Amino acid sequence: MKLTVVGCSGSFPSADSACSSYLVEADGFRLLLDMGNGALGELQRHCGLYDLDAIFLSHLHADHCIDMCAYFVARYYRHEGGRCGAIPVYGPEGTEQRLTTAYADTPSSSSMSEVFDFHTLKPGSFEIGPFSVRTEKVSHPVEAYAIRIEHGATSLTYSGDTGVCTALDSLASGTDLFLCEASFTHGKEDIPDLHLNGREAGQSAQRAGAGRLVLTHIPPWTDPSANLTDARAVYDGPVELARPGAVYEL
Ligand SMILES: [Zn+2]
Ligand SMILES: [Zn+2]
Repeated sequence: MKLTVVGCSGSFPSADSACSSYLVEADGFRLLLDMGNGALGELQRHCGLYDLDAIFLSHLHADHCIDMCAYFVARYYRHEGGRCGAIPVYGPEGTEQRLTTAYADTPSSSSMSEVFDFHTLKPGSFEIGPFSVRTEKVSHPVEAYAIRIEHGATSLTYSGDTGVCTALDSLASGTDLFLCEASFTHGKEDIPDLHLNGREAGQSAQRAGAGRLVLTHIPPWTDPSANLTDARAVYDGPVELARPGAVYEL
């Protein structure tokens, strides 16, 4: 299983990174986790525009899904080869309607479904291509999911956006790589059920017994080095900051 960080800026893009988007590949299958602002451009550095096989949207905040509107254009109005077939898109209740509204003038209210096969997420286990996945609802102001992806004997867990929650700890239990958000700074922001800070991400990784921790979704106004230090203080395993283009072979 190979993980590529397409974009990792939290909440809004930075000068150096698009918003949340991560490419997971195995056996020639390409699953994209989230497609936030700017991700579609960056994605083309790592994967052909039409080479995705499935998309998972953790929640419907713009920094996780808004480039799906641009990707609709690319698939629906493809110049060569005609309109693309529908690839599976897993998202919270109302994903199709939200994206259709965001795009504003799709030819019809069902146009999105011509190029995206929408599946409504619920907590549970299912298969996406060669991956066994498990999803859990996490603590965020809107319906939001974390996902654990297993392939053979390896696993990675992606938090999406969340505050501290036991569902996340149990989902990440024993995972090889924990891609966990750390939007806030310990001692600076303290808003429950919204985001984690570096210390909380480290504590979650420690409770889960994760093999390694990659901190992501750090907004441009947050000092990443503070979050890295805070996570290292409470987690025994290796910790690093996600960066655009980083590749992890699992
Ligand atoms: Zn976010
Ligand atoms: Zn969010």
